[in-house]
Amino acid sequence: MPKILQLTTEQIRILRKEARDKYPVEACALLFGRLAEEKAVVIKIVIVPNILHSATRFQVDPQLVFDSFECADDDGLQFIGLFHSHPAPHSPSAMDLRYMRLWGDAVWLILSSTDDSMAAFQMVKGKVRRIRVNIE
Ligand SMILES: [Zn+2]
Repeated sequence: MPKILQLTTEQIRILRKEARDKYPVEACALLFGRLAEEKAVVIKIVIVPNILHSATRFQVDPQLVFDSFECADDDGLQFIGLFHSHPAPHSPSAMDLRYMRLWGDAVWLILSSTDDSMAAFQMVKGKVRRIRVNIE
């Protein structure tokens, strides 16, 4: 279980731009890279449409998720987690918590479009814990 989620400033710029472009609809992306004991390093970001076009919920096309997983696998990358934005604080919503249970070990990176703050979370044994976000 990683304690640190590492992204580059360029990746953060891409995510912030996507959140701004889609505002107030929640923007979403899949994060792939290398998962080690301590650190999850993001190498590839796949922007995916929020098929609900909602400001309070997001959903991604399952076929697109499947294809992205296959493509990342071909590149030797592992699935790290999901990014999405909130036109609200960055804490996981009740809906997020429900889905976090379904996504297993996935790291959830949430950006608040209101103040541009970001936080990462992971659900471990039914409990949400915070993961440090490292930008370099
Ligand atoms: Zn959310």
